[in-house]
Amino acid sequence: MAKRPKKNKLFTFFILLLFFVAILFWVENNRPTAQIKNPVAEKNLDKNEKENEEKNLIVYVLDVGQGDAFLIESPTGIQALVDTGPPNKILSQLASVVPPTDRSIDLVFISHPDQDHIGGILDVLENYSVGLIFESGVSVDSQTFQSFKNLIKEKNIKDLLAKRGTRVDIGDGAYIEILFPDRDVSNFETNEASIVMRIVYGENSIMFTGDAPVKTEEIILSENTAESLQSDILKVGHHGSKTSTSVDFLNAVKPEYAVISVGLKNKFGHPKQEILDLLANFKVQIFRTDELGQIEIKCDKINPCKINK
Ligand SMILES: [Zn+2]
Repeated sequence: MAKRPKKNKLFTFFILLLFFVAILFWVENNRPTAQIKNPVAEKNLDKNEKENEEKNLIVYVLDVGQGDAFLIESPTGIQALVDTGPPNKILSQLASVVPPTDRSIDLVFISHPDQDHIGGILDVLENYSVGLIFESGVSVDSQTFQSFKNLIKEKNIKDLLAKRGTRVDIGDGAYIEILFPDRDVSNFETNEASIVMRIVYGENSIMFTGDAPVKTEEIILSENTAESLQSDILKVGHHGSKTSTSVDFLNAVKPEYAVISVGLKNKFGHPKQEILDLLANFKVQIFRTDELGQIEIKCDKINPCKINK
């Protein structure tokens, strides 16, 4: 058989290489995870122009007494509120961290509709223009919940179910990753239906757990590698109740710091001593709103986050 010229072989090699690269490109661009890209980038052009400033992700652990409420400010100025505390607490707390001229909040996550998490939502919706709301998909028979549903319909606010696999891009590479619910949770007990999510900015990550009990932690552990759950800061589940924060969950998350949002001398006895002891065994430094009031977490992309510094 006649020898094929070298040139021809080289040509075939390049064609094959091109084909291979094309396939790689296709696979990369057809990944199945849902991505929500900078949901508010167009709406808040002026807010997003922080190019010349030092970029930070800031999380304010708001002092709402017995309940949860966190305001996240992304490196590009996107604001996300995670829970709204019990009634009549959120507005003064927001006013202490947001300038009076800023009347909008881009994203609101309601981890679950119990009153100590959803109680301030009507105040928020009546006083701020909200871009997008994420809910877990469980409902309750309460006046607040009904009014909340009516108000978002009336104001035509987009209301999405949080779903495992969704990533919300909040600018400069920072994102919120939903870990739970992974299914329809409309029949779940409210705490069990809590939205669990991680915020990632460069090397830093924070895990938000709502009031998720051990049962929900176990589902999350079964669906994710420990590595992908590792977070520098853990918002301790259910205000430090012993129904959350299992040894297995702590072993995966391996936090350095823990935040507990809890009311001073609350009737539930939160946080429970055994959870405080467990966190101490894991050498986790604890920050509590009943002791410190509002807490500020400031993170850049590389260095460890600073808490109240
Ligand atoms: Zn709660």
